[in-house]
Amino acid sequence: DIKGLAELEKLAVLGHGNGGTVYKVRQRRSSSIYALKVLRFDHDAIGIWHQAGREAEILKRVDSQFVVRCHGVFDSGTDADSGELCFVMEYMEGGSLHDVLRLRRRLPESVISDVARRVLEGLKYLHGMKIVHRDIKPSNLLINGKGEVKIADFGVSQVVAGSLEAGDSYVGTSAYMSPERFDSEKWNGGPNDDGFAGDVWALGVTMLECYMGHFPLIAPGQKPDWATLMCAICFGEPPKLVETASPDFESFIQRCLEKDWRNRGTVLELLSHPFVTKRCTSAGGLFLG
Ligand code: ADP
Ligand code: MG
Repeated sequence: DIKGLAELEKLAVLGHGNGGTVYKVRQRRSSSIYALKVLRFDHDAIGIWHQAGREAEILKRVDSQFVVRCHGVFDSGTDADSGELCFVMEYMEGGSLHDVLRLRRRLPESVISDVARRVLEGLKYLHGMKIVHRDIKPSNLLINGKGEVKIADFGVSQVVAGSLEAGDSYVGTSAYMSPERFDSEKWNGGPNDDGFAGDVWALGVTMLECYMGHFPLIAPGQKPDWATLMCAICFGEPPKLVETASPDFESFIQRCLEKDWRNRGTVLELLSHPFVTKRCTSAGGLFLG
């Protein structure tokens, strides 16, 4: 485990996100390369502090080949007035699926099938640990040097019915959120979903985006404002795929994008869906270039 910033040398900035920056770093002793995510917050910014703490707790527990590994969490200790929480992570040199889509626009079904299988394996592991990711989308799926996709970014994740403190119910808004997240019933004490099905929905939207080359639930030119998105997610028909899409892919997407979460495909069902099982590419990777 890496225990402090002194062990690391910053090489480059890899990305920016909510309240933080991700750097490429080298461990001085071993010359190994890692990604370092630094979350900054003022001590009075309780919300971010809680969120960072939750992310740290989750990352420390998670150990799966389908989830980006964490090799240490520590306070940078560089500033007394504000905090800086550092996460040392496995370096994913292929960048995110979002980056890949920007370069290649569309991915073939064989690659999408492999990505879907890996994300489903990751979700099976996380859900087994009672962790709901809540932010599955292209920019949070990262690719390593072998072309393998893994789940990253537990910034808004939640442990359900676990020993950890319950998360807040407010997690902001995202174009990848499922219809049940808009459901007023649950705010009125009605039947509640546990959130697992929302990760499946987001996987479906993400895989469809890989196929179509743009966010699939609204037309490419359409303004993604709040009302438009909500209507599309809750009431819109899933987009028609071009006739080149295989029936297996269509059926897979349909099971992911079932509006009623009670009827939606589960992670286990989808792992044995023909779209995922039939076309195991032996290379099993997402190669760039
Ligand atoms: P945020 O919660 O702020 O979105 P992320 O964890 O998603 O933070 O990281 C932001 C971006 O930094 C990612 O979209 C990705 O481009 C890059 N990044 C994050 N983690 C890694 C990593 N382990 N290896 C390589 N790049 C990474
Ligand atoms: Mg992110």
